[in-house]
Amino acid sequence: MMRMTVLASGSKGNSTVIATGRTRILVDAGLSCREILKRMQTAGEDPRTLDAILITHEHQDHVQGVAVLARKLGIPVYFTEMTHRAWMRWMRPRKRMTYADWLRQREQGVTAVADDAAITTGIALAAVADEGESELCEDTASAERDPAALHSVSYFEAGKRFAVGDIDVEPFTIPHDAADPVGFVFEGEGVRIGFATDLGYVPANARQALRRCDVLMLESNHDTEMLRDGPYPWSVKQRVMSRVGHLSNEAAAEFLERNYDGQAAYVILAHLSESNNLPALARVSAERALCERMSLLTNKLLLAEQNQVLPAIAL
Ligand SMILES: [Zn+2]
Ligand SMILES: [Zn+2]
Repeated sequence: MMRMTVLASGSKGNSTVIATGRTRILVDAGLSCREILKRMQTAGEDPRTLDAILITHEHQDHVQGVAVLARKLGIPVYFTEMTHRAWMRWMRPRKRMTYADWLRQREQGVTAVADDAAITTGIALAAVADEGESELCEDTASAERDPAALHSVSYFEAGKRFAVGDIDVEPFTIPHDAADPVGFVFEGEGVRIGFATDLGYVPANARQALRRCDVLMLESNHDTEMLRDGPYPWSVKQRVMSRVGHLSNEAAAEFLERNYDGQAAYVILAHLSESNNLPALARVSAERALCERMSLLTNKLLLAEQNQVLPAIAL
């Protein structure tokens, strides 16, 4: 039997437990360590039995608690190498430098190597906040001297399967404005779970990976009209709507109608925006797309929440 518990989902933090009888994985750690532990306790999951943390991408709503939690539990963190590097740049910011400072230093003949690094860091810092959120992790601020120090790091590559205990993991590339973002398919004890949030559209490789799933977790981030008329600055709106932004209710529905094979027992709508979506809108849009395929046995529709744990799914 496989168990899936969404601890949180949305632009303020994402974290999910995937477990078999023998292995327990945390997918993303986008809440503070304290909050993740609290929610695991609420869900009846013992954090001390976690075997690993897997990271989809370095945006803050996916990594906020990872360093503190991984150190506390002494467990490995799995990243792609590029995501790990981007995360370290965010965790170890060098002195921030404006472009004017950089020019001034150049004129004064300061070496270019350090300057480039500082400029890159500035870009990473600017790019790392997801959907405009940018508060720093309070736990991390008080962390040890090297805030990016981890007990153990394992690298994986998109498109190459690997295993954590008896769970097979298939990471696949998704279009999103991060260093090397991935979705996952998890397989264990004959159950297949597809996991795709934070993607601007659903490309062919993701459609392929998400076939034959027993549980499908899919982003339904925003209602396009609410986003257009909503409070975000235009640059952020453009980013969210872009091909490397987030999946709208309409785009999720289009995938469910045209590309999805209808085989999952559960479809979970995830990463709903609190500012630019309403659960009822996301639900109606997906229900319309799934239409007569919904039954007591297949395509039960669930909505993952930001502020509370979704009851565990066991298959
Ligand atoms: Zn996100
Ligand atoms: Zn993201």
